[in-house]
Amino acid sequence: MKYIDEFRDGDKARHIARLIHQQVRGGRSYRLMEFCGGHTHAIFRDGLVDLLPQEIELIHGPGCPVCVLPMARLDMAIELAQNPQVILCTYGDMLRVPASGGTSLLKVRAEGGDVRMVYSPLDVLALARDNPERQVVFFAIGFETTTPPTALVLRQADQLGFTNLSIFCNHVLTPAAMHAILSDDGPRHLDGFIGPAHVSTVIGSQAYQVFPEQYKKPVVIAGFEPLDVLQAILLLVRQLNAGRAEVENEFTRAVTPQGNLKARQLMDEVFTLRDRFEWRGLGSLPRSALRVRPELAHLDAEERFTFSAGQSRENKACECPAVLRGLKRPSECPLFGNPCSPENPLGSCMVSSEGACAAYYSYGRNR
Ligand code: SF4
Repeated sequence: MKYIDEFRDGDKARHIARLIHQQVRGGRSYRLMEFCGGHTHAIFRDGLVDLLPQEIELIHGPGCPVCVLPMARLDMAIELAQNPQVILCTYGDMLRVPASGGTSLLKVRAEGGDVRMVYSPLDVLALARDNPERQVVFFAIGFETTTPPTALVLRQADQLGFTNLSIFCNHVLTPAAMHAILSDDGPRHLDGFIGPAHVSTVIGSQAYQVFPEQYKKPVVIAGFEPLDVLQAILLLVRQLNAGRAEVENEFTRAVTPQGNLKARQLMDEVFTLRDRFEWRGLGSLPRSALRVRPELAHLDAEERFTFSAGQSRENKACECPAVLRGLKRPSECPLFGNPCSPENPLGSCMVSSEGACAAYYSYGRNR
């Protein structure tokens, strides 16, 4: 298949790996963060770690939308799902994430809550149309990749005059998280980033220019196939050896400098920046998330419903916060594998297909 098979060629992968071996300089390390959980899975799925020299250390970043959502926001969604007037819709991964007290949206559904899994946010419009006597709430999560479809729902709901549909908005911004990681980089000493693929199709490669300029860290945007990731690592090693810090785009078949201008414009029309937003693992970050614009407050679940100010209770033994900051590997969590597993997730990083703990577990990695 075009754009897939040609980026999975084993001979070419070994060739790029040889070039990386030739380029690395003994005596120094190359600490590279793959921001996106999709890259973490690709790296383990395709056995790329085994092709790389020991000087290269790959550190997984916080780019898993399910993982970075803090417990307090999930508890708010649980509250919505327990409201008998509400049909709560969200993506499948969110259903299994543990909330305070070990509950989850799946458990609320088993207790009678009306929780629906959707594949596309546009399904929410049909649900609202078909259930005029109920309040349909879309629990929206994700980075810039999933934000445009939510924006489309908002615009259509406004145009069609829906009064029983609202969005519980938890969309977050990739560059803000990268700023947070680099501002607090002491323990990790990152040398550079493998930049996200899907997010970059929306925000464009120019969005990363600030990182070489402000922090002197290179960013190479990469696709999700094995040759993409290896090529990005090679480009990062070359930059670091030459003392350069630039944005390079390995994923030119999908990412442009400006990104998707239509999607960005639509997002600007319906969302505004929050002053601060709490991230699991990264803490409260300024201007790091979106909320529904005040002009569309009638479609904002945070305006339509009241929430109790209950105290969220994190599982203190779960090391997700340290894993998300790249300070610990999943296998360093005492709960990893037993009792925490994809069948019995005790933290968000074990739930999602983009979570680092799930990647380690699924591909049997212990380092
Ligand atoms: Fe959290 Fe489970 Fe990962 Fe430990 S193994 S950090 S409990 S998700």
